[in-house]
Amino acid sequence: MATDGQDERPHHDKGALSGRTALVTGAGRGIGRATARRLAADGALVVVHYAGNEEAARETVERIIKDGGQALPLRTELGTDDAAVPALYERFDAALAQLGAPPRLDILVNNAGISVPGSIYEVSPRDVDRLLELHAKAPLFLVQHGLPRMGSGGRIINISSAATRVAFPQSLAYSMAKGALEVMTRALAKELGERGITVNAVAPGFVKTDMNTRRWATAEAEAAHAAHAALGRMGLPDDVADIVAFLASDDARWITGQCLDASGGSHL
Ligand code: NAP
Repeated sequence: MATDGQDERPHHDKGALSGRTALVTGAGRGIGRATARRLAADGALVVVHYAGNEEAARETVERIIKDGGQALPLRTELGTDDAAVPALYERFDAALAQLGAPPRLDILVNNAGISVPGSIYEVSPRDVDRLLELHAKAPLFLVQHGLPRMGSGGRIINISSAATRVAFPQSLAYSMAKGALEVMTRALAKELGERGITVNAVAPGFVKTDMNTRRWATAEAEAAHAAHAALGRMGLPDDVADIVAFLASDDARWITGQCLDASGGSHL
């Protein structure tokens, strides 16, 4: 079971994001859970989206509420059906209404993802479809259907990967899908700037989550992956969540169209 490393950390100052509503996709576990907790600690009402692991999502929500934050779970499998995104926002609006909150989206974090390893010799058409649908198509339509709910000061943050910066042929289609997400990030930043909305990406290196337990299942495996980073360890979900929270904050108002490396200086 992955750790989000937040159990011992002190609470952040409340308020930097108070009054804002965030939707974090894939927030039941891993980087998404750490991001949801951090945004909630900063005062946002967080919609904890997940695909099917209800127990993990419930635990994320319970931890946020126990820490004095506001959160609610929202289940939708993305990347399978074009009706999924509009249906997600219908439930989003209804869930907010139940809390007496307006149907407004201030921060969208496109984080949900899967790892499907495969080189040019192994990759299948279905792998390519699944990866592009979840990592590029779903974020695009989450933005399209989220925009009517987003005003000036809105934040769109896409979780990419260092696999777009350095060649990662063992996960070819995954890298290509994240590349598409980064291209979308830059194009949307240009278009949505006039609405006062920033659009950025964050590119983690190897992070200790359920997605890649094989990379840290043994001390040897972890040491091998830690060695890629200038800072000499694997990333933790909080390492990425804190960067997302910065991009979501007012302090990052003058950054848009960028991809921030979140890899501890991997492959420098
Ligand atoms: P994780 O711990 O495996 O969590 C993945 C999350 O995505 C879960 O909440 C899962 O929902 C959700 N999800 C998976 N498939 C989905 C689908 N079809 N529809 C909707 N939601 C779905 O993953 P992670 O390591 O935190 O990864 C988060 C993001 O960071 C991903 O975009 C990943 O590509 C990126 N990233 C990760 C690493 C790394 O080393 N871990 C490195 C670079 C980039 P359930 O909980 O309901 O299953």
